[in-house]
Amino acid sequence: MKKISIIGGGIIGLCTAYYLSKEGFSVTLFDRSDLTDGCSHGNAGMIVPSHVIPLAQPGMIKQGIKWMFDNKSPFYVKPRLDKELLQWGWKFYKHANQKHVENAMPALRDLSLLSKELYRELNRISDSFLYEERGLLMLYKSEKVGEEVIHEGELAENLGLKVDFLSKAELTRLEKGTTVDAIGAVHYKSDAHLQPQKLVAFLFDEIEKSGGEIKRNCNVNDFVIEKGEVVEVITTQGNFKTDEVVIATGTWSPEIAKKIGSNLSLLPGKGYSFTLFNEKEKPSIPSILCEGKVAVTPMGDSIRYGGTMEITHTNDIKIKQNRLRGIVNTVNEFYPNLNVQMPNEENVWYGFRPCTPSGMPIITRDKKIKNVVFATGHAMMGLSLAPATGKIVAEIISEKPLSVSTKMFQFV
Ligand SMILES: Cc1cc2nc3c(=O)[nH]c(=O)nc-3n(C[C@H](O)[C@H](O)[C@H](O)COP(=O)(O)OP(=O)(O)OC[C@H]3O[C@@H](n4cnc5c(N)ncnc54)[C@H](O)[C@@H]3O)c2cc1C
Repeated sequence: MKKISIIGGGIIGLCTAYYLSKEGFSVTLFDRSDLTDGCSHGNAGMIVPSHVIPLAQPGMIKQGIKWMFDNKSPFYVKPRLDKELLQWGWKFYKHANQKHVENAMPALRDLSLLSKELYRELNRISDSFLYEERGLLMLYKSEKVGEEVIHEGELAENLGLKVDFLSKAELTRLEKGTTVDAIGAVHYKSDAHLQPQKLVAFLFDEIEKSGGEIKRNCNVNDFVIEKGEVVEVITTQGNFKTDEVVIATGTWSPEIAKKIGSNLSLLPGKGYSFTLFNEKEKPSIPSILCEGKVAVTPMGDSIRYGGTMEITHTNDIKIKQNRLRGIVNTVNEFYPNLNVQMPNEENVWYGFRPCTPSGMPIITRDKKIKNVVFATGHAMMGLSLAPATGKIVAEIISEKPLSVSTKMFQFV
């Protein structure tokens, strides 16, 4: 039986381990943490076929520069003179055009819809991770933002997604959980949501049930390479022989890529979330509050609020109060009855989204070391795209026909 080493136990590594073990491979997953926290735990839990437009899009640079001068804004690039940031910025600039968006949209749609189907399958195995299909509301307060949101909705509709365009009155009738102060909404009916920590727990169980091994607190330091292939994984818990390697180390992927001589342009997009329990009122449908780019997700007896995208480095673990206040203010402006207070710092979670300059994930074999597959760079859609990514990696390794094309999911 072929031995596969998966490095990284976030949602991408876990889904990859799940689908590889279903294919009958001998799977070992290594993670340097104890796997109780990280980007795949505190995220907003949204499954978003609606998100067909990549971060690299026309107008994003202008908007980003404007936001950089507002310390409560949802987007920020930590200025610093380093090679990685300059290289990433240049590549982002080269991708932020209409042609890239047109090529990216169908590719993201296909990957997302495959993922949604796979989530349905997983939900048939277990309802433990609170999967629900209620769609996603893009709420807006101004005509200007409304125009942009409606335009994006029309693009998604043209790609075959189910979209409703709601007036204020229609929105009030639909959202019965709480009062919403918005002038309208776009309702993406194909979106869904779940509780990320419960999903992760479900996957741990399933992987171990099918014989996979999960090595916690085990840092992968390096590889033994012979004749152009990785033959051993060198870790803090010893060396492990391997036939194939999957790199699913999220925002830390460039450091591990360097060990096999690959140059991966990817930066962390830091974001925050906090979760409040047993609130008197609760939205029944997840939403994005478009003016402030804040995500609001009802999860069982709690509501999770998430936002901000700070392009930074992984040592930047400070919780910036101004940006947190930006999230709180936005929530109170859209949902006046929720009356959300600034959370204490110890109740605020942060995570690093792995952001590529093209805004597209990377799901591909390495160009030089042929028994290494990359599965990373999912930015703000890692949870959403994880099952499809895991399944495709399993197809790449077992040399089966691919469920969707990976042409757009290459190194940039
Ligand atoms: C505020 C916020 C809200 C979000 N909301 C959503 C959402 O609603 N929907 C959605 O789809 N996405 C969302 N995301 C994005 C999503 O969380 C990420 O895309 C996803 O978690 C990335 O998963 P990953 O497995 O690639 O990386 P990670 O979860 O970061 O996992 C990488 C793992 O690799 C391990 N690792 C790194 N280096 C090594 C090494 N050398 N040896 C061993 N282990 C190593 C790390 O310990 C880590 O556990 C959100 C993100 C944020 C910050």
